[in-house]
Amino acid sequence: MVSIEEALNSVQNQEITSKVEVKPLPEVLGFALSENIMAPFDMPAFDNSAMDGYALCGLHKEYKIIGEIAAGDTKNLYLKDGDAVRIFTGAKVPANASAVMMQEKTKVEGVTLFLDEMPKAGQSIRKKGAELQKGQQVLQKGHVLNPSSLGLVASLGMDKVKVFSKPRIHMITTGNELVKPGQPKQEGQIYESNSFAIEGALEQFGFNCAQQQQVKDDFEETKKGIRKSMETCDVLILSGGISVGDYDFVKQALEGNGVQELFYKVFQKPGKPLYFGRRDNQFVFALPGNPASSLTCFFIYVLPLLQKWSGHTNLGLPWYEFPLQHEYENRFDRPSFLKARMTSNGVEILDGQGSSMIQSMALGNALAFVELGQKFKKGDLIKCKLIS
Ligand code: AMP
Ligand code: MG
Repeated sequence: MVSIEEALNSVQNQEITSKVEVKPLPEVLGFALSENIMAPFDMPAFDNSAMDGYALCGLHKEYKIIGEIAAGDTKNLYLKDGDAVRIFTGAKVPANASAVMMQEKTKVEGVTLFLDEMPKAGQSIRKKGAELQKGQQVLQKGHVLNPSSLGLVASLGMDKVKVFSKPRIHMITTGNELVKPGQPKQEGQIYESNSFAIEGALEQFGFNCAQQQQVKDDFEETKKGIRKSMETCDVLILSGGISVGDYDFVKQALEGNGVQELFYKVFQKPGKPLYFGRRDNQFVFALPGNPASSLTCFFIYVLPLLQKWSGHTNLGLPWYEFPLQHEYENRFDRPSFLKARMTSNGVEILDGQGSSMIQSMALGNALAFVELGQKFKKGDLIKCKLIS
């Protein structure tokens, strides 16, 4: 049995040979950059107007309007002192313009422009290079591309990006009692739900399950299922069959496939019978079968491994500290991840903490962490991870 910290260190410190690929820009949301991105030119690339209004030459209160420049115009207008041009947001400002005055502060009579106030030098001109300068690092290797990153990369004129690949993930559920939803079931059987929860969680974080199979509680069938799956996957997630029951064959079946154990059993609740192993550059998590345990182990342990595999530098969901809305004492015999709800009023620990209970997790949005025996007064800070 290892501690939570030892288990997390094991996950986060794995040496992983990641793969890189060049992908078209519309497909890279959520991928991590595998190289730094440098600015190929200044941003903005030319002085341009921040307003709809008038570009002015010299600082006066009255000008002669000599023309117009719209966004996208490429012409070069030359202004003399006392000249103004009608200009629009994003349009190229003439080289010798002193300022731009927003149209709301002007009056026009014929070709004469009157300003309500004196202009200030450089006012409402977005200067070439004000945001980024040519050659400057814009985004760092490992940066996970969010929607703004895609906009930024596109504004640099790039239509492809070099990123770390994401792992090919397979899932195997085990259990004689499991029936797929939509099928009739008999007394003694239950509906298979973990694959739906785990695949949903994968999708939530930008991953997907490439292949899923269900096996019976049978050593040979489990071993064969793992063998087939590991012919092509990078990460294998199993559910169930990893505890100490007479029908739990997953650990033996993994050994039979040459998977090396990295840890088995974590001093925590839920999710004690969690297994993590590897075979060369392939990783295996065997999650406990209880629905809340398997999903909790996914958020705490599987996610950071998938992120590391994908080249992320920040691993796992961040911890937040928020005030607890009520007293709480951890009466479980292990450090615990508790189903909780985080709102602007603070954190509430929900009823229904059993490992098999998933409704509380569906209604909550967070996992709160409490040490063994830890006691809280109302208003004490509690550590939480937001899971949805
Ligand atoms: P196990 O870890 O195989 O002993 O399973 C522990 C508990 O989780 C048992 O009550 C199982 O019926 C249940 N369980 C196992 N796998 C699943 C699954 N895929 N979906 C829903 N419940 C499951
Ligand atoms: Mg089972």
